[in-house]
Amino acid sequence: MEEEILKKYKKAHDISDDVLEFAETLVKPNVKTLEMAEKIEKMIIDKGAKPSWPVNFSINEIAAHVTPRINDTTILKEGDLVKVDIGCHIDGYISDRAFTICVGEKNHEMIESSKKATLEALKAMKPGIKCCEVSEIIEDIVTVSGFNTVKNLSGHSMSQYNQHESPSIPNCKTNDQTIIESGTPMAIEVFTTNGNGWVIESEPTSIYQFIEDRPVRMPEARKILQMSINEFQGLPFTQRWIKNISEFKIEMALKSLIEAEAIQKFPPLKEESNSNVAVWEDTKIVL
Ligand code: MN
Repeated sequence: MEEEILKKYKKAHDISDDVLEFAETLVKPNVKTLEMAEKIEKMIIDKGAKPSWPVNFSINEIAAHVTPRINDTTILKEGDLVKVDIGCHIDGYISDRAFTICVGEKNHEMIESSKKATLEALKAMKPGIKCCEVSEIIEDIVTVSGFNTVKNLSGHSMSQYNQHESPSIPNCKTNDQTIIESGTPMAIEVFTTNGNGWVIESEPTSIYQFIEDRPVRMPEARKILQMSINEFQGLPFTQRWIKNISEFKIEMALKSLIEAEAIQKFPPLKEESNSNVAVWEDTKIVL
């Protein structure tokens, strides 16, 4: 990997260290997720990076893909298992991180299990390791601690302005003999649960991403499509990032863009058996 690119990945990761530390101090009972999201996203920009997607706060049985909506009134409660997923990038070179906090509780075995598996998998990832070997480390650690991994969520590589690149690292044992080479950016995200360990799509969607420039009739839809290319640089975005268009028209425009296959949606992912889910995620360049 070129030195310049490596530096950008490192800078994004360093900034995310500070942002995560700040985000942890915000997660408290009676706090609005909308206010937290705005503060965290502002800090990313103030530090000289950009959010690679809207900050996610996915609570309890929701594993991922929830960001506050416009005028969102969601408030954290004592005992909520809150997954905070933060991405930031420098010129498209992404640091993808997540942590979980149980509001008002210090020790939480499920969170510890996710964290331990993530850190051990990252430690083991050296050039030449096979994807299946990393998945095995993850599943073994989680099952020994008495939990299940979420089997249809995976760690992944990344590339410039692309948050999900192959190879991917499923959180369950596979036969994938793909070798991870030196210079590969990898995000490991271990989702743990006391349920079956399978997520399904839920509602309502608040995360979208550009696919292709296609003709759409509604002026607001054309405007949002242009924003998804120029302002959001092909990375995921959310309704509250779209300024000067009414909420009603934003929803209509997004609907027409999805129908035209100009953008795709990332619906919330919910644990199928409605069980709690924890996650821990960090990124490294395998060197
Ligand atoms: Mn990720």
